[in-house]
Amino acid sequence: MSTVTPPIPLVDLQAQYRSLQESMDAAIHQVVVDGDFILGKAVGRFEADFAHYLGVRHALGCASGTDALHLAFRALGVGPGDEVIMPAMTFVATALGISLAGATPVLADVDPTTGLMDPEQTERAVTGRTRALCPVHLYGQMTPMEPWLALARRHGLFIVEDAAQAHGATDALGRHAGSVGDIGAFSFYPGKNLGAYGDGGCVTTNDPGLADKIRLLRNWGSIKKYHHEEMGLNSRLDTIQAAVLGVKLPFLDSWNQSRRLHAWKYDQALAAIPGIRPLTTIHGSVHHLYVVRSQKREEHCRRLNTAGIGAGIHYPFAIHELAAYRHLAPPGAFPHAENLARQCLSLPIYAELPEEVFDRCRQALAASSAG
Ligand SMILES: *Cc1c(COP(=O)(O)O)cnc(C)c1O
Repeated sequence: MSTVTPPIPLVDLQAQYRSLQESMDAAIHQVVVDGDFILGKAVGRFEADFAHYLGVRHALGCASGTDALHLAFRALGVGPGDEVIMPAMTFVATALGISLAGATPVLADVDPTTGLMDPEQTERAVTGRTRALCPVHLYGQMTPMEPWLALARRHGLFIVEDAAQAHGATDALGRHAGSVGDIGAFSFYPGKNLGAYGDGGCVTTNDPGLADKIRLLRNWGSIKKYHHEEMGLNSRLDTIQAAVLGVKLPFLDSWNQSRRLHAWKYDQALAAIPGIRPLTTIHGSVHHLYVVRSQKREEHCRRLNTAGIGAGIHYPFAIHELAAYRHLAPPGAFPHAENLARQCLSLPIYAELPEEVFDRCRQALAASSAG
């Protein structure tokens, strides 16, 4: 074949920048001119805007999504001797946020159709030491909150929503991911649906007491200079990153809408391909990732790469298969998570995704299944 086709990456951050360049450059420039790099004006402005967008009372910027989770558990007083139940299939940071607070992650298997934590498996994992649940809105799908709220009520548990992949996702009642549990944790890692130009994160809550605690903990345990109430962290959202996010936030819903349309087109394009099955996604998903199950993943990956299409795996290992967390459970303990880790394959998705990607993926994957 001599046709030259441009490569399509798994995620393209430059395309979005090009569409925002003028306002973005001006916003970053303003922070440099003002020189208020730490907890400057743009931070407070973004926190208010993001809280308003989500329909929560408080949003507190911090340095990363990992720190957002860490701060959430610290603020709730969940620490050494306490257990937090989380899904066996997620990014490692969910477990790290729990561990950094000194608590113990306890894994629950996932629903094989969506990849989301299974409430029945979760209830089975509750012990006398369980203090909190940490459901993850995986791949952009907001996990239905009613089962978690019921479980939390029944056993007296806190809920920390890991919303790092779900900015703007909603449930059947129109509530936003990160606005329903006691605390929501967001990441603004550049590749997320709402991404900074570096690391960043945010903690959300409706509880003014928790908000005060988080404000303290993220700033060396201090509100008043040199008065340190707690052994806190240095974990602020940089003013430059807040300015970047402030420019992007007004576009989040339309970007998410584009992702929905892309996901729908992938579903159509890939429906008839043997050995490929798109993951069922929950309504209201913002499609942070577009994930299919593949029966021949290595071959499918190779074919996509040869066709110039970026493919990813989210994630190749369940949490208890990682060296850092092997002590949590033996192999085979969470068959659905492990099975998903073996089969999952992510195709490129971002708002500016070029239209030809659906056909190119279909052709690459169909050829591979036939051969
Ligand atoms: C990205 C991510 C995080 C961590 O966010 P960072 O900002 O990279 O620390 C946590 N949980 C999930 C599910 C994520 O995808």
